[in-house]
Amino acid sequence: MKQPIIKVGIIQNQDSITFNIFGEFILNNKLKIKDRKLTAIPNGKKIFLKENDTIIYSDETLNFVPVKNNYNIEDAKYRFEIENVMIGIDFHWEQKERESFEGNFLIINKNNMLTLINEIEVERYLQSVIASEMNSESPFEYLKAHSIVSRSWLLAQLENRKKNYLKEQKFQITDTEKIIWHDKTEHEDFDVCADDHCQRYQGLTRLKGNAALLAVRETFGMVLTYNQKICDTRYSKCCGGITEEFQNVWQDTYYPYLKSIRDSRNSNEKKPESENEFENFIKSNPDAYCNTTDENLLKKVLNEFDLITKDFYRWKIEIKQLALKTLFEIKLGIDFGEIKELIPLERGKSGRIKKLKIVGTKKEFTIGKELEIRRALSEKHLYSSAFVIEPVFKEGSDIPCKFILHGAGWGHGVGFCQIGGAVMASEGKKFDEILKHYFPDADLVKIY
Ligand SMILES: [Zn+2]
Ligand SMILES: [Zn+2]
Repeated sequence: MKQPIIKVGIIQNQDSITFNIFGEFILNNKLKIKDRKLTAIPNGKKIFLKENDTIIYSDETLNFVPVKNNYNIEDAKYRFEIENVMIGIDFHWEQKERESFEGNFLIINKNNMLTLINEIEVERYLQSVIASEMNSESPFEYLKAHSIVSRSWLLAQLENRKKNYLKEQKFQITDTEKIIWHDKTEHEDFDVCADDHCQRYQGLTRLKGNAALLAVRETFGMVLTYNQKICDTRYSKCCGGITEEFQNVWQDTYYPYLKSIRDSRNSNEKKPESENEFENFIKSNPDAYCNTTDENLLKKVLNEFDLITKDFYRWKIEIKQLALKTLFEIKLGIDFGEIKELIPLERGKSGRIKKLKIVGTKKEFTIGKELEIRRALSEKHLYSSAFVIEPVFKEGSDIPCKFILHGAGWGHGVGFCQIGGAVMASEGKKFDEILKHYFPDADLVKIY
């Protein structure tokens, strides 16, 4: 098998796109273009290609193919650059960047708006994604393990796309409950976008001298499989001591290779089952790979380390009655009156709440799954939905004046635990041992 080509939407819905071409490209099998600065503008069904205000070409789509592909980052002769690529859309780091890419690209016109799509080999795409998302000072065996997890996830999404899986319904709403889950939504004209919505892809921009490049190269074509099918491997920052299962976060499908494990050096330890046992687990500080305060390591693994709390393994927040009531009005559009109780109706294997019942003086309503709960109870997101609720009362009142949430972990907790994996690598574990720990029933296979 040859490695697949992936279509990445670099910029979407623009009324013009300006780009620089370096080296020689062939346009629509007709025109040779070398070292030029060009602008594409939609016009009816067509696209006009302009150089210094002169139209040099027009067609319905523009397809640029480099005369040669780059084999060497240091010497990327055949590439294109786009000014004004918006990154971090809707996040606080939203900004415009000049970015550089390689491979084929095409510009399409949809309703008089332009989209630029880069077609690139999966391995090159992965090198770029891992380099953008990972800190290259992370332990090398961790980068290798992560490369395999990211590759498997990506190839599984390409399969899902073919099966229309991403278009499946993602909610169950009745008068008394709203159970909704969020997954990457499908893009119509390409496989993935280049922003954080899918995975951040900045082409050649940050590749030079990055250890991620070597980690992807050394694991070329390697994926996790189960029953000969590529695993839809998920990952999150910190499981909280036990990993979660797929069906508790997304669709009600059980994936054996994502079965919950205890993220500790003794993975046979008993897992909590009853509400009481979960409460003890979340309120205690059990041993786990991701239970680390090693600042040096965390700095290497988490790019945004300086901006975040170090208490992600076990955390605690307080929400006042009025703040909570207001949050629910804004986030859920529901006036509960005064909030009397928050009741976990169902938890997943890691303790993450899957269904939370909110009892107010005016209304009762149940929400889920984990991401919806994390959104509803915080201005941004709670670290996770694995928490225990402690109502606090003022004397003589039966309405809590505030709620204390004792929580565990960061993210959905399914599959690969990034901080746990990094700790394993720093303790000398090899990438295959790390993968065996998080995906005990999956096989490690080189498919191309
Ligand atoms: Zn996307
Ligand atoms: Zn963990």
